[in-house]
Amino acid sequence: MEPFAPAHGGVVRMYACGLTVYARGHIGNFRTFVALDLLRRTLRHAAGFEMRQIVNFTDVDDKTIRASRAADESLRAYTDRFIAAFHEDADTLGIESAEAYPRATDEENLRAMVDMVAALEARGHAYRSDGSVYFRIATDADYGRLARLDHEGILPGARIDSDQYAKQDARDFVLWKASAPGEPAWDFGVGPGRPGWHIECSAMALRLLGEPPIDIHAGGVDLIFPHHENEISQSEGATGAPFARFWVHVEHLLLDKGDKMSKSEGNILTVSDILERGHRASALRYVLLSTHYRKQLRFTWDSLAQAEEALTRLMDCLARLDGVTATGSHPAIESRAAAAREAFGQMLQSDLNAPGALGVVFELVRDVHAAIDAGEVGAGDAAVLRAAFDYFDSVLGVIALRRAEEDAPPLPVEEIERLIAERRDARRRRDYAAADRIRADLEARGIALEDSAAGTRWKRA
Ligand code: AMP
Ligand code: ZN
Repeated sequence: MEPFAPAHGGVVRMYACGLTVYARGHIGNFRTFVALDLLRRTLRHAAGFEMRQIVNFTDVDDKTIRASRAADESLRAYTDRFIAAFHEDADTLGIESAEAYPRATDEENLRAMVDMVAALEARGHAYRSDGSVYFRIATDADYGRLARLDHEGILPGARIDSDQYAKQDARDFVLWKASAPGEPAWDFGVGPGRPGWHIECSAMALRLLGEPPIDIHAGGVDLIFPHHENEISQSEGATGAPFARFWVHVEHLLLDKGDKMSKSEGNILTVSDILERGHRASALRYVLLSTHYRKQLRFTWDSLAQAEEALTRLMDCLARLDGVTATGSHPAIESRAAAAREAFGQMLQSDLNAPGALGVVFELVRDVHAAIDAGEVGAGDAAVLRAAFDYFDSVLGVIALRRAEEDAPPLPVEEIERLIAERRDARRRRDYAAADRIRADLEARGIALEDSAAGTRWKRA
């Protein structure tokens, strides 16, 4: 661990690799975005810095081009949809907005990429082959330092893409791809073509954040190699200055079976899939927060149910505080709340120890119940305690979500009846686990079921 402070004044300049917008983001992607939201909120609300955070959209690459063609839509129109879906899901999960969301294909960004490619050529780091421009890894003696690669710059066991025979060295990577028939292409000075994936992030980070080094560069662990390694080579090769002072990588979310959730594997769950099964976004956010970001998170339906319980405990405690009518205050409560605030901030400022921070919150919940039971909480104390929970939630963001959900309109009747029919079918198939899950989901949303010989009746709790 190293102490962190921004290089300039109180403003943290941070770049996070965002979504490749060829499909709706899945909850694995959102594990990373929620973890980075926790980082952002900790830096702002616990450490008191200001943020300048950039999150990009990769809206041109093989996958976006292929998918937009298959849908018979322009690349722009096709990717627009998934960008809109990203913002919707990010709002649903209570993710604070970044200061900018650049897209790779915006002209000012493409120009910045082309300028960087030209600078790399001028400084001898790049070469042309068949109309494309490549980065020559042999010119970067430090290549592989981030990912701790061997001296050849190759991850042990990694598959090297050598079928791109236009490259002089299998490790080299493309900066600018020569235009191919039927593919979108731009010509801003290094020949008609489109950007390589890595150059996008280097160019947009420096265009929007200014002088390198930037303070923090972040993304999921899968990006360490080769994406971030290549970003470093390009940025440092073009500017001669270090690229980023701190790197933050979020471990993956895995499915129950231990498989990595990925769009190309097709084994994905989206935020809306979770909501459609009757779960609340606050519970999903809680699950995504409650495992430390450097540990793999195994997603289970059970973990959502546990999150639901934890949130209910928290909300019950707040409701009890609202009900305090006794006048006066007790100094012990004030110091207890101050100690909890201090411990909470310490946990998060120690490499974002979210599980530890949640532990602090729930210890306070327990103590509040005990103090109310003992008649030791007056209205003045209740205000102090509420302010402490507000502070916790400025970072955690789950209470605010839960309150918004509780103000939300009740589950529509057609939806309840559809779920009851689904449960009946599940029972006919003898899939009792699925049937029980539907009952529990409905219960969590305030709908109680009653089975009888005549069928299932429901009522709102
Ligand atoms: P992509 O759309 O694949 O470019 O990914 C967008 C972001 O999500 C990147 O920061 C990835 O590292 C991250 N990511 C992708 N899959 C997962 C996963 N299963 N768990 C956590 N983060 C992921
Ligand atoms: Zn990136």
